[in-house]
Amino acid sequence: MMEMSASAPLRGNRAYISLGSNLGDSLQTLRRAAAALGGLGTVVAASPVYETDPVGLREQPAFLNAVVELDTTLEPLPLLDALLAIEAEGGRERGIRFGPRTLDLDLIWYDGRQLESDRLTLPHPRAHEREFVLRPLADVAPGIDLHGETVAALLERLPPQGVRATGTPLM
Ligand code: ADP
Ligand code: MG
Repeated sequence: MMEMSASAPLRGNRAYISLGSNLGDSLQTLRRAAAALGGLGTVVAASPVYETDPVGLREQPAFLNAVVELDTTLEPLPLLDALLAIEAEGGRERGIRFGPRTLDLDLIWYDGRQLESDRLTLPHPRAHEREFVLRPLADVAPGIDLHGETVAALLERLPPQGVRATGTPLM
């Protein structure tokens, strides 16, 4: 894990964002997205990059996944809008659900808040059962709570889902 911006003043709320890509130059896409996230606040930490066998639809390329810890003054909905804008810039074509995408940015956790609206559910409703979210998240925030359990505890009892470390840093 990389600690970023050790001297930058942190004034906002803590958010964890998962990044995924399985089309095109995925590493470059994730790195550009991580740089763009820096425009939404301060990137406090970033996980290394993991490689993940596709879930659901199997006949598609493997994903690259990572998690970024962001300090931001944006509230959850404006932050979601900003994430969707970065996705669009990343060239994401919205096709089949769970199908290939050039860039997927999910807001996993925001300041421990719980929210259920048409546009945004917090914490992310499927994060706690996805190894490709939990493994990089455990690198930066093993102790945060998802549905009453820590990330580390959830990961420990999750059956393996084909997530591999690549040893490549995100930033
Ligand atoms: P997934 O990421 O689960 O594969 P999509 O990226 O296609 O699915 O879903 C996008 C929609 O999910 C967004 O338009 C957004 O309104 C909604 N959504 C609800 N909760 C969240 C969240 N915590 N993070 C990101 N998107 C969310
Ligand atoms: Mg998404």
